[in-house]
Amino acid sequence: MSKDDLFLMVQNQIISRKIGDEKIHRAFLEVERANFVRDEDKKFAYGDSPLSIGFGQTISQPAMVAEMLYEAKIEEGQKVLEVGSGSGYLLALLYRLKAIPYGIERIKELGEKIDENLSKEGIKGIKFKIGDGYYGWKEYSPFDRIIVSAATFKIPEPLIDQLKIGGILVAPVGGESVQYLTVLKKETDKIKIEKKTPCVFVPLITDGK
Ligand code: SAH
Repeated sequence: MSKDDLFLMVQNQIISRKIGDEKIHRAFLEVERANFVRDEDKKFAYGDSPLSIGFGQTISQPAMVAEMLYEAKIEEGQKVLEVGSGSGYLLALLYRLKAIPYGIERIKELGEKIDENLSKEGIKGIKFKIGDGYYGWKEYSPFDRIIVSAATFKIPEPLIDQLKIGGILVAPVGGESVQYLTVLKKETDKIKIEKKTPCVFVPLITDGK
């Protein structure tokens, strides 16, 4: 594994597929995905697929993460909540995009590793909690952007409530076997929803309705 592997990942899986923009490509080049996978998987860290991070969960495929970040139109200084932070990879990318990331992860063991993973990237001080992200994080709301990194049948109402007017939420919406990356825009008087590409994410597990 070297800088070349990371460069090839960005070039072949993201740039040549015309996903994202220069800002996003630069952010990807600044985060070693190998720091977010298990030791035994480091040799696959720059592959074109999700990888297990234990507990039945996965770090998402780089191209899919790039698409989510692009659809979310992340800008410098924005407060961005990620629901389902898993390994912390997307939080690191948000940080490199100069956003202010907030993360929620349901599984304690994964959540406890996030700080360790981020510190390998020299990233400290990201606000993060363990819990059910269906309910968002009211204390720090409203958010400019919300990214849901787990599949849901329906976009959770509390997340829509915690989004600023003018804000964008991106989530994989659909059944267990396939979802559509969905972009929600909260306008003053209405909510606009656009269905984008098909995708497969692990389910959002919640008691919320
Ligand atoms: N962006 C992460 C994706 C991890 S997979 C990464 O690239 O590593 C999705 C994560 O969502 C899993 O870790 C899973 O435990 C978590 N998750 C599922 N339901 C959740 C919920 N209700 N609240 C918070 N996290 C949840």
